Amino acid sequence: MNYKSDIQSRKESLIKLLDVIIKHENEIIQALYDDFKKPKFEAIATETSYIITELKDTIKNIHNWSKPKRVRPSLLNFPSTDYIIKEPYGKVLIIAPWNYPFQLALCPMISAVAAGNQVVLKPSELTPKTSAIILEIIEKVFQHEQVTVIEGGVEETQNLLAQRWDYIFFTGSVAVGKIVAKAAAKHLTPVTLELGGKNPCIIDETANLKLAAKRIVWGKFLNAGQTCIAPDYILIQKDMKSHFVDFMKKEITKAFGINPIDSPDFARIINEKNWHRLSSMIEPQKVIFGGDTAIKQCYIAPTLIDEDNLDSLLMKEEIFGPILPIISYKEEIEISKIISNYEKPLALYVFSDDKIFAKKMVSTFSFGGGCINDTVSHFSNKRLPFGGVGHSGMGAYHGQLSFDLFSHHKGIVKKANWLDIKLRYAPYTNKIETLKKLLKWL
Ligand code: NAD
Repeated sequence: MNYKSDIQSRKESLIKLLDVIIKHENEIIQALYDDFKKPKFEAIATETSYIITELKDTIKNIHNWSKPKRVRPSLLNFPSTDYIIKEPYGKVLIIAPWNYPFQLALCPMISAVAAGNQVVLKPSELTPKTSAIILEIIEKVFQHEQVTVIEGGVEETQNLLAQRWDYIFFTGSVAVGKIVAKAAAKHLTPVTLELGGKNPCIIDETANLKLAAKRIVWGKFLNAGQTCIAPDYILIQKDMKSHFVDFMKKEITKAFGINPIDSPDFARIINEKNWHRLSSMIEPQKVIFGGDTAIKQCYIAPTLIDEDNLDSLLMKEEIFGPILPIISYKEEIEISKIISNYEKPLALYVFSDDKIFAKKMVSTFSFGGGCINDTVSHFSNKRLPFGGVGHSGMGAYHGQLSFDLFSHHKGIVKKANWLDIKLRYAPYTNKIETLKKLLKWL
């Protein structure tokens, strides 16, 4: 690898990036609005401020995170000093999706740069305005050899994947994740795959239904449901269902008014292709609230569905839109029957005042991460690893974890010369007993 950057110069480029992002914040918000009417509040909360906070945290900690870390030496190596060096992988490819097009492109890029890598960043072609502003910002801040933005779609991404990388970080669908993993395998390139899945939201008979409805409406209809960790379907105890539906209707109306199409706080579906996909999911269903659609505006209303058929189109794949199927269960055992129909989800939520039940739910199932009595908010704590498991992905990031993800951790033993214990050297005659005793003692 020819490219090398010292920590101070990485820090300076991140400070410059922070400055440029702050100066262009309004343009970024506008680009997100132009791409799919992302509400201003959501653009600030989930995209620009998120990145500003991440940048500040990285700038503050970069020296500390990059320091070699001393570890306790093994007595087998006595006398030695043992430590871990964090070094960049080299050339990193980052492929981003469209749903949080600024945040999900910039967040991994910041850490990859902080860790000293060269980055090629491929933003989503489905959000062209945001992609253009990302390109403009990156060109203002970085030398080409440090970070390059390649715009384009499937063909450009496939060309990039055909090259050899030292690390690939991909955020997107499970289907494309498999393409990425296959391309990476050719050169044994390590990958992080941040994918999706069907995220269950379990509500038992002890839950505070009013508060649950408020928190579910927020997490589900944020970004018009186009959030990888949005609740995908509700699993509710049968006797609570009609009460819960009433609260949900009230909360949706409170948040977006009687006509959500007129609300400035409700985003649009990204494109007609996805609009058709989602509309066809609603058509055969029992709609209990919402259900309005308008192709011209790529609009789909916040919609609640009474679902009793796991074979329906809606329950076959990740919904990724503002449609929420509500399934009821009689006995607890049915919960696991339903959840285990699907691959391991990216998130799981449980609403319950029964601590034992809540604990059981989060420990019984395998999923990326989640919340008890909330939705989505685990994403915002940088001290929590964010990532999937199984089909919802591999690898996790955020905060220092991201820096560590983009660093190879090199373990070093620095042996002292003042003593050289003979035990390990041949000839081994008469040494086995001493070795056994030593190993027992360790
Ligand atoms: P996508 O997989 O269609 O696209 C992601 C990226 O891959 C884009 O940059 C695109 O250009 C590229 N791409 C698309 N098709 C390709 C192909 N055939 N070959 C090579 N590259 C290709 O995903 P999307 O529609 O942008 O995003 C939605 C999906 O992403 C959902 O499944 C969602 O759950 C998931 N997602 C996951 C996270 C997470 O953090 N785990 C975050 C956001 C979105």
